Amino acid sequence: MAEPRAIDAHRAASLVEGLFGASIVPTLTDYIRIPNQSPAFDPDWEHGGHMRRAMDLIVAWCRTQAIAGMQLEVLQHTGRTPLLFIEVPGQLDDTVLLYGHMDKQPAMTGWSEGLGAWQPVLRGDRLYGRGGADDGYSTFASLAALKVLQDQSIPHARCVVIIEGCEESGSGDLPHYIEHLRERIGTPSLVVCLDSGAADYERLWCTTSLRGVISGNLHVGVLREGVHSGDASGIVPSSFRIVRALLSRLEDETTGKIRPDWLYTEIPEQRIDQARAMAGALGAAVWDHYPWLGAMQPVTQDPVQMILNRSWRPQLAITGAAGLPELGLAGNVLRPSTVVRVSVRLPPGVNAERAKQRLIKLLTEDPPYGADVRFEQAEANDGWSAPALAPWLEAALTASSQTYFGASAGYLGEGGTIPFMAMLGERFPEAQFLITGVLGPESNAHGPNEFLHIPTAQRLTCCVAETIRRHALRNA
Ligand SMILES: [Zn+2]
Repeated sequence: MAEPRAIDAHRAASLVEGLFGASIVPTLTDYIRIPNQSPAFDPDWEHGGHMRRAMDLIVAWCRTQAIAGMQLEVLQHTGRTPLLFIEVPGQLDDTVLLYGHMDKQPAMTGWSEGLGAWQPVLRGDRLYGRGGADDGYSTFASLAALKVLQDQSIPHARCVVIIEGCEESGSGDLPHYIEHLRERIGTPSLVVCLDSGAADYERLWCTTSLRGVISGNLHVGVLREGVHSGDASGIVPSSFRIVRALLSRLEDETTGKIRPDWLYTEIPEQRIDQARAMAGALGAAVWDHYPWLGAMQPVTQDPVQMILNRSWRPQLAITGAAGLPELGLAGNVLRPSTVVRVSVRLPPGVNAERAKQRLIKLLTEDPPYGADVRFEQAEANDGWSAPALAPWLEAALTASSQTYFGASAGYLGEGGTIPFMAMLGERFPEAQFLITGVLGPESNAHGPNEFLHIPTAQRLTCCVAETIRRHALRNA
């Protein structure tokens, strides 16, 4: 039998670099200009047409790529976000599923001088603007990886690419489409997800776990209308204080520790070891890349605990508020209500739906002073923990990271949520996962000054090609 052919790494890297320069970066530049926010942030998204324009742009690029046998379809069922489904036949009877998304987070404030969410700016290696790194590049990188293989006549499994338009809203439309596409998807034995993080730009990073999330609006009402605070305070309880009291049921406000034990999970020994290794490799880089203000200090001084806190422990963030006027309009009024958007990150393994029900009970039961307390627009998504890494995949990650980054691969638990991974993990328990991405230090997905680190996207693309090549050989 002939030796399986290796990828000519030089040729692969120059093909990918050429493709990024000639068409991917220019197309992403146009894509950044389109404010195709996820439905949760733009209820009028369908009428606005931005999502369709962004999808048309991506599809137009895909159609110009000479990939043998590629079939491409945009599904858009009534009342749902569009989904791009691409099938590329392979040389063996097996399936690789590549996943990404094309909807975006809202603009957010705080962009630096000369930068803006819908204003693409190329500075050195960085393409600034919303959605380039999270996760607009994913379609381009997926097809570029397949081009690398086909350019060198390297056998690969049948590949399906799924690019959804609802990820930033919790992937609510995805289960419907996955069910609809069930036969055409088949049974993937490898899932490649290009929507995750990186702890630096020096190596291939493989995500070993993701947190889940529960979010919802905690509404506290005390009056039918606002009244003079000099008149009412001391008699009418403040809705803000009641919010504080309710949140204290959930979180110790002094330490930030979440109180209910049912929001925790036992952290696997292997993950603690990986956290130690990562802390050792990164040192201060675990925390010093955040845009700290003045003398601010982190929650803990121990980098291992920082890593575990952000990947394996529940945490609370308040991400929005209502019932509070702008400062210039704030009179001395005891306001009728306060609403806060509560976002609780969950460790992998905690059932998000059940935890949501308990959280609602915790926050709304027995309200102080009989206040009108509700938890509305609640959403829940499970976290995920990777199955044990198959030896062939570990070898693929090690080799490709060495070849294209010149450094060994890194493993990290991520603090964010990719709802689809939990769905896939449940549906395809035998599948292996390469969850990776370009969201490294300062790339700031969801915040201001988001950028795509172009060389990392290119190297990652080559690593994906190598992984798909080795996947095809794994039983040989
Ligand atoms: Zn994303």
